[in-house]
Parts: sequence; C-alpha cells; structure tokens
Amino acid sequence: MKMSTQRVVLVTGGSKGIGKAISAAFAANGDTVIINYHTSFDEANKVKLELLPGNTSVSLERADVSDYLQVKRMVADILEKYGKIDVVVNNAGIVRDGFLMLMSERDWNDVIAINLNGVFNCSKAVSESMISQRNGIIINIASLSGITGLSGQANYSAAKGGVIAFTKALSKELAPFNIRVNAVAPGVIETEIVDSLNERVKNNFLNAIPMKRFGKPDEVASVVKFLASPDASISREKLFALREDSIDV
Ligand code: NAP
Repeated sequence: MKMSTQRVVLVTGGSKGIGKAISAAFAANGDTVIINYHTSFDEANKVKLELLPGNTSVSLERADVSDYLQVKRMVADILEKYGKIDVVVNNAGIVRDGFLMLMSERDWNDVIAINLNGVFNCSKAVSESMISQRNGIIINIASLSGITGLSGQANYSAAKGGVIAFTKALSKELAPFNIRVNAVAPGVIETEIVDSLNERVKNNFLNAIPMKRFGKPDEVASVVKFLASPDASISREKLFALREDSIDV
C-alpha cells in the first residue's frame, strides 16, 4: 500500500449529472478522484476517460451505497490502493416520485435506502480512517426538498431532510477529530433526474424559480469544491489563537 501524496476524493454516484461535475471539479484541482457507480459502468468509464488526460489519477469503484458490506469493501479497497481518503462526497441518489396514496412500499424503501442509508453507510465506513488521520471532509448532497418538503416527494423529502439532520449531528460528533461535515441543498438542477419529470411538473418548478432557469451541475460542483477547500475552513493554529484572544478579552 502506497500513501497518495495528492488528496484522495471519493464521489458516490460520480458517473452522471451532479456527481460527474463534482468528479471533474476535483480532477481539475489535481486531486485523485474515485468515481463510485452502481449500474452505469459505461458512463462511469466515459467520465474516467474524459478526466484522465488531466494531470490526475481517476479510478472507478462499483458499489451499491445502500449495501453496507459493498460500501465497506469499496472503502477498504481505496485505503489499500491509496492509503487514505481525504474527502467523501455523498452524492448518489434516486427519485421515485408519487403521491403518498399511490406510493409503493418499494418506492419508499428504495429512496430511503439509497439517499439516506447510503449516506450513513459511506460516512460510517470512512469515519474510522478519518478519525485515525485526524483529518477529513464529508459533504452530503441533500436537496431543497428536504428543507421545504415537496408534494409528490414524501419519500425523497424525508430522506433528504434526514440527510440534513444527520449532517448536523455528525458535524458535532466529528469536529473534535478535525473532520468537517457539511451538506449542500441544491434546487432543481439540469440532470437525468430532472429529465425524467413530466413537462407540467418541470414548468411548475420553473415558475417558482425567480431566475426562471434550472441550476447547472457545475454550479453545485463549485460549492462542493469550495467546501472541501482550505478557504472553507480555519486552521487549527488560527482557531487556537482566536480562542486564546477571546479568553484574554
Ligand atoms: P443522476 O444524474 O440521476 O445521477 C445519480 C447518480 O447516483 C448516478 O451516478 C447513479 O449511478 C448513482 N446511484 C444511484 N443509485 C446508486 C446506488 N445504489 N449506489 C451507488 N450509486 C448510485 O442524479 P443527479 O441529479 O446528478 O443527483 C445527484 C444527487 O443530487 C442526488 O443525491 C440527488 O438527490 C441530488 N439532487 C439533485 C437535484 C436535481 O435537481 N438534479 C436537486 C437536488 C439534489 P448508477 O447509474 O450507476 O446507479
């Protein structure tokens, strides 16, 4: 096992949409990027080939984030190859929209399993090595739906609301180990998830957006990249200095 000198970044669901843009943003930064996917090997491999010409290392990891054993194996494999994981972006997600009366138990369970349990599984699996490193960044992709709640998305709103609460709790738990945990809650972003919505629903969303346009995956990726950068943090030294100053006052 060789300890990577570059930052090692795992992006779940990095094969498409927002995850693809996030993978590209970290690769452009010179980080080692691991693209996790579940079923879309061809897309994931295409992203890898697109990013490889840059001065960076990109690899693929297949795992269903809703399955803890698969996630544990994926994390062990990355640690074996690179010696550490610096950043995890919990991005993998699905929608199975429908009014509650018509929502199947399966549509409820799948959305909770991937969007919420997936975040638990990946965060738990990386937390041990991040705690030992005394260093790490976890960024969870939530959604506006998890803040406001949206009609026809009881499952998705519940999962994303859960991700936001989970993020708050975990940020408190892991802060003493120098691990930052944040969530990003995008509005409607132009990806396959949005392509799958019918025109009436898309128009309703557009009408509610003051800019009258959907967001772009790159716009979410910029926020994620910032949250993973030193600009979004304060060094331990500066923090201790600030604490000492405030004690003097
Ligand atoms: P997308 O284009 O449909 O991509 C979803 C990604 O998640 C794919 O790479 C997919 O890979 C992966 N994935 C799905 N199930 C998985 C599983 N069980 N294990 C591992 N990977 C899995 O979706 P997106 O719009 O980019 O959404 C990305 C994230 O942003 C999601 O968490 C979504 O809820 C959130 N979000 C999206 C929007 C929006 O408007 N698009 C708004 C707010 C939040 P496979 O195909 O290989 O399964």
